[in-house]
Amino acid sequence: MGKIIAIANQKGGVGKTTTAINLSASLAVAEKKVLLIDGDPQANATTGLGVYLEENRSSLYQVLLNICRINDVVHDTELSCLKLVPADKSLYGGEVELLELDQRESILKRSMSEIRERYDFIFVDCPPSLGLLTVNALTAADSVLVPLQCEYYALEGLSSLLGTIELIKNGVNPDLDLEGILLTMFDRRNAISHRVAEEVKEHFNGKVFDTVIPRNVRLSEAPSFGKPIILYDIKSAGSQTYLELAREILHATGSKNS
Ligand code: ATP
Ligand code: MG
Repeated sequence: MGKIIAIANQKGGVGKTTTAINLSASLAVAEKKVLLIDGDPQANATTGLGVYLEENRSSLYQVLLNICRINDVVHDTELSCLKLVPADKSLYGGEVELLELDQRESILKRSMSEIRERYDFIFVDCPPSLGLLTVNALTAADSVLVPLQCEYYALEGLSSLLGTIELIKNGVNPDLDLEGILLTMFDRRNAISHRVAEEVKEHFNGKVFDTVIPRNVRLSEAPSFGKPIILYDIKSAGSQTYLELAREILHATGSKNS
């Protein structure tokens, strides 16, 4: 049964989608079966994997509103082990329409039950908000991975996210785990990067991944070619560190299951 990991932080531009795409791709080249669900109306994970939906093609929106089944919207990607459930901007309205439905926080969870066993990992890329789309991802997930940009305001808003995680744990999803905090866009020449990394490690002792993602221009270029970094520049520091993160997660998941 696949492990479901939500990638969430309501702060914008911290590396959620970059992590969703590149961690998924790194696990897929390790021959793990991976599904990436794009849970963000911005659809950056969709286009970043080279999937461009034609008008009227189904996406996560139709799944959440029970118009079609999740299996009907699974797309192939350039990597055979990596599949994608795409998003498009109809999800903006979808989040509002969900408000009308019963048990609206667990729609994604219910829709995933039919496909869960086909994958080793299922990632959900969340939007930069704590709205119903993120709540659906956290309700469906076994764990949450929180990317944190190594910038001065990194910790701002983290308490709201941790508060939401607690609320969900105390309610619909008591088993929700913190997979880890991932430091992103680390710049070793920048004193603030070092200070933030130290502070976060001190504060969240044992919950911060050893792997730290550096600021790397190749990572920001790859999405415009519709490719994960490993297919764009395998030798880049960005590529190597996301592969390292995949190893770290495989190791942690393996030792927990044994
Ligand atoms: P949003 O909250 O809007 O969904 P996000 O948290 O998903 O944003 P990304 O889209 O992954 O963040 O990253 C924001 C920007 O920073 C993008 O232009 C991305 O290419 C760039 N970026 C992300 N990680 C890195 C990195 N390690 N090095 C350089 N650029 C990066
Ligand atoms: Mg994003």
